[in-house]
Amino acid sequence: MKTHLGTLLLAAAMIASVPSLTSAQPVPVAQGPVHIGKRFSILEDPSSALSPIDAIRTPGYRASEMDVPNLGVSNSAYWIRFDVKNDTDEDAVILDIQHAEIEELDVYLLKDDVPVPIASTGQNAPLDSRTIAQPEFVFSLPIASAEERGVLLRVKSDKQLQVPVQLHMPSRFSESRSMKNLTIGAYIGIMLVMLFYNLFVYFSIRDRSYFIYVAYILLVCLTQLAFWGHGQYYLWGGSQWFSIKASLIFTFATAIASSEFMKRFINTREHVPIMHRWLSAFYVLIGVVMTIYLFIAPPLGYKLAQLTAGLLATYLFVTAIIVWRKGSRQAGYFILAWTAFLTGTMVFTLKDMGILPYNDLTVFTMPIGSAIEGVLLSFGLADRINILRREKERSQAESLAMAQENERLIREQNMELERKVHERTAELRESNETLKRTQVQLVQSEKMASIGQLTAGIAHEINNPVNFITSNIAPLRRNLGEVVETINAYRKAESPDAVAKVREEEERAGIQESIEELDGIIASVSEGAQRTAEIVRGLRNFSRLDEDDLKHADLNEGLASTLAVLAPQYRGKTELVLDLQEMPKVECFPGKINQVFMNVMNNAAQATLARMDGRPRRVTVTTSSNEHEAIVRISDTGVGMPEEVKARIFEPFFTTKPVGEGTGLGLAIVYGIITEHDGRIQVESEPGIGSTFTITLPLQRARQLEQRA
Ligand code: ADP
Ligand code: MG
Repeated sequence: MKTHLGTLLLAAAMIASVPSLTSAQPVPVAQGPVHIGKRFSILEDPSSALSPIDAIRTPGYRASEMDVPNLGVSNSAYWIRFDVKNDTDEDAVILDIQHAEIEELDVYLLKDDVPVPIASTGQNAPLDSRTIAQPEFVFSLPIASAEERGVLLRVKSDKQLQVPVQLHMPSRFSESRSMKNLTIGAYIGIMLVMLFYNLFVYFSIRDRSYFIYVAYILLVCLTQLAFWGHGQYYLWGGSQWFSIKASLIFTFATAIASSEFMKRFINTREHVPIMHRWLSAFYVLIGVVMTIYLFIAPPLGYKLAQLTAGLLATYLFVTAIIVWRKGSRQAGYFILAWTAFLTGTMVFTLKDMGILPYNDLTVFTMPIGSAIEGVLLSFGLADRINILRREKERSQAESLAMAQENERLIREQNMELERKVHERTAELRESNETLKRTQVQLVQSEKMASIGQLTAGIAHEINNPVNFITSNIAPLRRNLGEVVETINAYRKAESPDAVAKVREEEERAGIQESIEELDGIIASVSEGAQRTAEIVRGLRNFSRLDEDDLKHADLNEGLASTLAVLAPQYRGKTELVLDLQEMPKVECFPGKINQVFMNVMNNAAQATLARMDGRPRRVTVTTSSNEHEAIVRISDTGVGMPEEVKARIFEPFFTTKPVGEGTGLGLAIVYGIITEHDGRIQVESEPGIGSTFTITLPLQRARQLEQRA
């Protein structure tokens, strides 16, 4: 920073040393082109309505104190008078006003204090109003050699109004121009090189920063061309409105482009988010100021614009410094570049304010500054590629490391997961086994319970016929003993007397009756044995319970044997009625189906026992069939079920019976077996009336399965 300040001071010293005219005498031409402002008498015309004649006659001219008078920004027109002495041997003098931003410019040559118009032109006039075609204002004054004439100028502008006037010998004029043209050419050349270079980079790497930079460079150039008049002269001369507004429009477009560029270039969004957001406020301000300048009050707008530009430049500069101090190398480039530009602007402004003299150096500090800025930023952009590459490499390395770390983590997690899955699977398998075992146990215990219940009835049932048999054994033995005794007596009797004695004895003892009784006893024993055998057969039939094979079984037979097993315990308590119709055999596991019948019939009989109202207790089993199905209906006149019980009867462990009487598993098992047989079970029940269970089984299981598939 200090070095830049030094450069600035050095420049100021150089500028101060440029010589200037001091006397108020007529301006001689021969000594070469110098700014002749100090020879001016200036009259302000606030109404800007004076005619040249009035202007000559009006008093109140004041002497100018500057080589290049700076008339500020106002609504007034100004009249400038000075005398020219043509001390050359040429017959004309070139009047050169090197400030393109004079919007109205009239030139008069005084002849005996009468103003003779030479030209009426200005930035706000068509190009063909210029007597000599130049980007700036150049006029040929017909002042003969050795003649001395007064010159009257009328100038007016809504912008900063300066009047840098030089006089030239016609023969030397173009020579004096060449230096300036060279400078402008070099400037445009440098800017174009950077423009195309960065445009090329933009198309190669598609980083928006480069595009904005290109726009920025272009706008900077256009701004300069507007200031110099080249813009109007070569580019947009057709529109007077645009011609007078162009310099400010481009200045602000440049301001916006440069702040947009800065945003990206030094990444303000990340480094200074709050300042970044406030930049938008400047855009609004610029919009307002521009509206005022373009459409409402141009001089006021222009002054506000100068203020706004100064504020924005400072803001950008401060922002860049803050970002730079946060360690951004890019910001360093930006500060350097911005310093160059600001220095240029500062010198330019100091010149405008009259603190620094108006000369080639001060006039060109702005383009020089902007060119340096452009070059530096271009370097910065080039460097940015390096930075980006380094950043990319770093982030690639980082993401590689991250990916590896992730991979490691995932691998670990996978292993952990697999281990857990194994563990869980083992646990699940174990609990599944336990569950299966429990289920088997439960089914077993339900079986045991029903068998236990049966045993009581069966024992009682067998007891009867067995009693029958045993109670007949003593009489049998006694009667048989008597008969055997009698036979033995006959065998021993050898004489007819002895035989007669035996017969006597036989008759007395009533052996014949005993023999006759034997028939009855044997019949009784036989009946008892038969009944026992029947019961046993029934049990055996029923105990097909444990058969595992799929068979074609007669359901009626199954029902009959189930009844045989069940009947004894309900004999005399409830009536069990079979009303069976012949039907085709059903493919099933007969043992399991019998278990179904027994569970349902048992529940039905129990339900009838539970009622105490003296209505007949009956369980009726009916069978029927159709083409595909066998239907077994078991209805009872029992207590029936309310809806809430009915809804839950197939749930395992659901029972309404006291502990020890009901397991709540019967119907759950029934449901399992019926579904296994692809059958259905339906329940109708009315509390206080009774229930009906309807079991429907397909005749052919396989076919049924096929049809479904
Ligand atoms: P359990 O007979 O051991 O109670 P079940 O699963 O065989 O278990 O029956 C469940 C419940 O269903 C019984 O407790 C009873 O409340 C009800 N239930 C079953 N059949 C009948 C029926 N025919 N009449 C009335 N209630 C019945
Ligand atoms: Mg039961």
